[in-house]
Amino acid sequence: MSRPMSLPADSLHAINAVLDAAVEFSKRKHAKLGYCVAAAFDLLVSAEYYQSMTHRGWTYCSEGPTMLVYPFTNTCPRCVSNGHFQFVKGNKPESGRIGMVTVEILCHILQYMFNREGKEAKVVKASEPIDMIIFDYRASHILIAEVKAAPLLTLPLSVTCEKQTEMLEGSAIASGHSATDNPFFKSSELNLLIPKTKDSEETPVPISVDWGASSPFYSAIGNLVSENRSFFETYYVYWHRAFEAYCGRNRNDPPFWLTNGCGQPVPRPDAWPSRKGSGYESVSDGKTSVGMDRTDDIKKGIFQVLKLGVEYKPSDPQKRIRTALMSNIHAVRHYSEYLESLRDIVWAIDESGTARLMADLDPDCAIYNLFDGILSFTRCDIRDAWLSSLFAFGGEDGV
Ligand SMILES: [Zn+2]
Repeated sequence: MSRPMSLPADSLHAINAVLDAAVEFSKRKHAKLGYCVAAAFDLLVSAEYYQSMTHRGWTYCSEGPTMLVYPFTNTCPRCVSNGHFQFVKGNKPESGRIGMVTVEILCHILQYMFNREGKEAKVVKASEPIDMIIFDYRASHILIAEVKAAPLLTLPLSVTCEKQTEMLEGSAIASGHSATDNPFFKSSELNLLIPKTKDSEETPVPISVDWGASSPFYSAIGNLVSENRSFFETYYVYWHRAFEAYCGRNRNDPPFWLTNGCGQPVPRPDAWPSRKGSGYESVSDGKTSVGMDRTDDIKKGIFQVLKLGVEYKPSDPQKRIRTALMSNIHAVRHYSEYLESLRDIVWAIDESGTARLMADLDPDCAIYNLFDGILSFTRCDIRDAWLSSLFAFGGEDGV
């Protein structure tokens, strides 16, 4: 049932380097380890996003110092930090292509965490209908999981550039904000751009990309976190602020507008474009999820976990098999409506069709948890001792 991983060795090296930095930062600053790992997940998925970068899709931002920006939501990340929405076309890759990689990154992160804590567990990417399997080395406990994972935030890339000019009535004038190509991005000095907040200045962080490497951006980010010890902290502070803004739907804090699924600008500027058909463009639409926090994903996920349970649990008399819904970030906005009332469900198979009480069932009739775990780095609901020991780092109390 397991499937070979496909990320090349230098990607794995980068994953370890980013996780080393996250763990080190968590220890040094007493930050919640699960949150630091969730931030690390976003940074690693970003590497995958950056790999699909092209010469098209850049934006000239006329705010000083002038820059070309490569954004991932549909608003200029610099201008929104200055309080105004400037529509740009975000460069989010197709979700199908990214989906497989997010599962694989999640597998590697979990394996790293279990190894670090001396847990004898092996994590593998699985094939349909299972996304991920975790088992202990004696296979006396086996988790089969449905994964719904997606990043909260992808930092834009930037390149400093000259102030652009254009001709108006015979005179050269400064150009305004505009979509543009970057014909030289492979020879440009690229930065990861951490936009300014109410408490911190804009920080372009130079990255050195070796275009001959098999995974240029994984290597670049791996080298960055290893060589620049303060980077992870600067990144995490911004990420955490975006996470808080996401949790509280705080549209007044600019990092909110870099998070996936943030919706339409409020207030909408007059020049904001309308969408083909009806309505207006969003900064990031509701079809884009954060973690498992999209209603369609949650509903599919619940069904899939139930189906996995029904297919695998009754034929496992030793009760080795557990089922879980797994993500990087929990269903922040939809937890209470979609998961809270289901998290403690247990089920049994009653072929008589008449049972109303447990006492009506055969005394040997097994009952099963719907969810042995609803698992993520930011919150875990667990009904199983083995999973509790494995995922002690996840969730709000994990330090
Ligand atoms: Zn701008």
